[in-house]
Amino acid sequence: TPPSYSTAKNSLGSRSSESFGKYTSPVMSEHGDDHRQLLAHPMQGPGLRAATSSNHSVDEQLKNTDTHLIDLVTNEIITQGPPVDWSDIAGLDLVKAVIKEEVLWPVLRSDAFSGLTALPRSILLFGPRGTGKTLLGRCIASQLGATFFKIAGSGLVAKWLGEAEKIIHASFLVARCRQPSVIFVSDIDMLLSSQVSEEHSPVSRMRTEFLMQLDTVLTSAEDQIVVICATSKPEEIDESLRRYFMKRLLIPLPDSTGRHQIIVQLLSQHNYCLNDKEFALLVQRTEGFSGLDVAHLCQEAAVGPLHAMPATDLSAIMPSQLRPVTYQDFENAFCKIQPSITQKELDMYVEWNKMFGCSQ
Ligand code: ADP
Repeated sequence: TPPSYSTAKNSLGSRSSESFGKYTSPVMSEHGDDHRQLLAHPMQGPGLRAATSSNHSVDEQLKNTDTHLIDLVTNEIITQGPPVDWSDIAGLDLVKAVIKEEVLWPVLRSDAFSGLTALPRSILLFGPRGTGKTLLGRCIASQLGATFFKIAGSGLVAKWLGEAEKIIHASFLVARCRQPSVIFVSDIDMLLSSQVSEEHSPVSRMRTEFLMQLDTVLTSAEDQIVVICATSKPEEIDESLRRYFMKRLLIPLPDSTGRHQIIVQLLSQHNYCLNDKEFALLVQRTEGFSGLDVAHLCQEAAVGPLHAMPATDLSAIMPSQLRPVTYQDFENAFCKIQPSITQKELDMYVEWNKMFGCSQ
């Protein structure tokens, strides 16, 4: 059994002022069971079993939860996908180092960190869209062998508003059963905006439920859950709620090395013909692009060889008949794909980071 973990301080204010107390590595249970076995044979719906000592109350709550909600969480919120490795995420070396040292190491090697620091179980990743925030969330889950729950803040509001509060409740409940769990909430500003309307509106109820659940995660000694929230509008988060995030990390645009890596990664799936000088030019010309913009550019360039084919049945063309992707295809793609972020927006992130971010 790995040694228990107790925290020295917690900066979350009165509601969360208790220490995290005892904390066992989410990879191994108190009895030394590997919880990943649970993930390898995930049980569905109400048959889910809690993996902590609070089994009883979680089981009770599950029994009282609508099966349709549990199914919805299992089918639409739990995201299976292939595991993500650090090497799949280009650049972001500083962010990765902070996450490894401050989030993963204390969890995976609780013995070495015993009693030293507060576990950051709630992280805010902020920055432009398409810079790898979701990839980072998936990578953290993969590294912890955790079940990955992806809740889209915008989806909750647009698609499920009437049920959003219940979906959040059910998601955290299932997360307790499928521990270790990583709950990733994108567009968290939709839930935590300072502009939330009337007190009993669906958005306000959803927000109250989320904060209650987050508070439980932060104060529970047993739950092996990390909550990662992402936003491209950090300034919209109600200032009184920023304290809920123990780590607030800026995820910037990729630098030249990062862009080079993304281009190489994406082109590796295609037949291409580019010399070093052309690669260097691509890296230079994509300055100010997000990772997603670079991906769109490469996708656009990659269909260039198809445009060059005579107007026959495209499905009949074998990959070997296609010419390689060339620099000219990128020239054409640059006419269509522009950077999606303005300098003004970038400056805003830097400012917000100076005021409220955790220095990297
Ligand atoms: P965000 O959550 O920040 O909006 P995502 O993590 O969903 O962005 O990234 C969207 C896509 O952009 C990814 O699937 C990937 O193709 C590309 N991408 C963005 N940033 C990176 C990165 N740092 N490394 C590799 N690919 C990236």
